[in-house]
Amino acid sequence: MSLAKYRGKRNFQRTSEPAGEAKPSMGKSGGLIYVIQKHRASQLHYDFRLELRGVLLSWAVPKGPSLDPSVKRLAMQVEDHPVEYATFEGVIPEGGYGAGTVMVWDKGTWTAESEDPAEALKKGDLKFALHGKKLRGSWVLVRTRGFGSRADKSWLLIKHRDRYASTKDVTVQEPRSAASHRLLADIARDEGGNVTKASTGDPKLTEHSAKSQKRANMKTPSRKGKRS
Ligand code: MN
Repeated sequence: MSLAKYRGKRNFQRTSEPAGEAKPSMGKSGGLIYVIQKHRASQLHYDFRLELRGVLLSWAVPKGPSLDPSVKRLAMQVEDHPVEYATFEGVIPEGGYGAGTVMVWDKGTWTAESEDPAEALKKGDLKFALHGKKLRGSWVLVRTRGFGSRADKSWLLIKHRDRYASTKDVTVQEPRSAASHRLLADIARDEGGNVTKASTGDPKLTEHSAKSQKRANMKTPSRKGKRS
């Protein structure tokens, strides 16, 4: 596994994403990194990443994860990312690869349930448990028959049946950053990104919650503009 593809796509003079020079250091805290980054690029998607052999294996999941075991979510494998990428939350400048706002939507560790995870990946059937803030319990990534030139990159992310399975729509009900509690629009505002574009990735406020939001803002005028 190499970061050549990752580095080739990015100009590190322009983006604040990590180049991946540092050695992985997570061993000491115990456990391999698991992270999902919600990314409002040209299309909204969720980047699902698992640390293995010193890099973050990465899949772009257009609809994000589902806690419902009957729902299969398409996951397109993309280039390996450096382990330092796991903490990246911010704005990728316009004109650069993946331009847009990135949120650490969930984070934690993972453990393989397949005996040999590298071999399981090769076979296209990786079973694992997530120990995140939002996602927990047993999951599987299965390679599927895709279409066209990226056929071998096409996988499905599926929740296994266990006590963490649910029909709750986790992406809608838990839209905030697991690192900073911010919404995408907050991150874009704080980091000089495109707030209007970022906000299209946040759940729309219902009329009721918009009203209570307005009331809350009126009650605490001193916090206006500083919401993290
Ligand atoms: Mn992405």
